[in-house]
Amino acid sequence: MSYERENIKRLKAYTPGEQPRAAEIIKLNTNENPYPPVEAIMHSLTEVQGEQLRKYPPATAQEFRDSAAKAHDVQSSQIIATNGSDELLRLAITCYCEPSGDTEGTQGGLGLTDPTYSLYNVLANIHDTPMFVVPLEDEYAMPADLAKQWNDAGCKLAMIVNPHAPSGRAYSLDQIKQIASDFNGIIIVDEAYADFAEEDAVELVKENSGFDNVLISRTLSKGYSLAGLRFGYGIAPAPIIDTLDKARDSYNTDYISQKLATAAINAREDVAKSWDKVKSERSRVEKALVAMGYKVYPSQTNFLLAMPPVDAPDAETIYQKLAEKYIFIRHFDHPNMCDKIRISMGTPAQNDALLKALEELK
Ligand SMILES: *Cc1c(COP(=O)(O)O)cnc(C)c1O
Repeated sequence: MSYERENIKRLKAYTPGEQPRAAEIIKLNTNENPYPPVEAIMHSLTEVQGEQLRKYPPATAQEFRDSAAKAHDVQSSQIIATNGSDELLRLAITCYCEPSGDTEGTQGGLGLTDPTYSLYNVLANIHDTPMFVVPLEDEYAMPADLAKQWNDAGCKLAMIVNPHAPSGRAYSLDQIKQIASDFNGIIIVDEAYADFAEEDAVELVKENSGFDNVLISRTLSKGYSLAGLRFGYGIAPAPIIDTLDKARDSYNTDYISQKLATAAINAREDVAKSWDKVKSERSRVEKALVAMGYKVYPSQTNFLLAMPPVDAPDAETIYQKLAEKYIFIRHFDHPNMCDKIRISMGTPAQNDALLKALEELK
């Protein structure tokens, strides 16, 4: 006897990248920052006292919100703290998308592109909301009529990831602006990789920006070396934050994560040194891959998407052969992606080991 709802029975859950246990492995598969959290973050961990854990944490993470507001030059009322940015995405679907039982066709559903971050689809299926998926064009370009297609389908919420995952491509601020102004619902710009990019869309959520429908999603997992902490946040006009706030768990972020996240945002300048190192490795590894005959997609993230040359084994074989050498990269079983590999940027030594192993595979 199964007691599950039908949509949960059908649900294909999100597949996270592997987290192997062996000590000697090189892990370039889940876009973590290869450098440890900065000293200021680790120091604030040593200050945690039992008395603070005895009590419930600040419900709205006010201290973090104040720091994040300062960092982005917005009001605290424009920030919401969440348990990873994954929770923010889930909250937005809860608040803005209609379950399919209450609606016709794709009316009230979620607008996506293909490919995109594969979790969006899972979250929509959990909520049982309809999706309208628009294929990207060559080189992962967004179609000019993307927002119109979502409008015609009746989508109330849409998600784009910029810079794009899994390709690394950055769309210009002008393009994001155009979509925000054309789209009739709320547009989430998932900026999980903005720390490694040249532009972001924060100016679109500022007061007097002329937009009331943009929600930016940020995470401390990648840029701040805190994937294990689970802390993300949203930046949006205050009315959107108020809506999301109503639907979150009362204590969705715990005391320790609030404290460390606040230290992290306040140490932004120091943290940014790792962003520079990652970016410089990105261009070094890109050049080395191109020299080996790989097609490498221009990236403004901390990873590279690369298609092996004809004289190399196919992408899936490369993934397996590297795993045998304890080097883990990502291969996606997706029609548009299965001929490519995705490599997170490691330390210079880790990247050298990867390049040497790829050289030996040819
Ligand atoms: C890594 C990633 C996230 C998840 O961030 P968490 O804060 O760790 O939940 C969200 N969106 C994209 C596109 C990502 O790559």
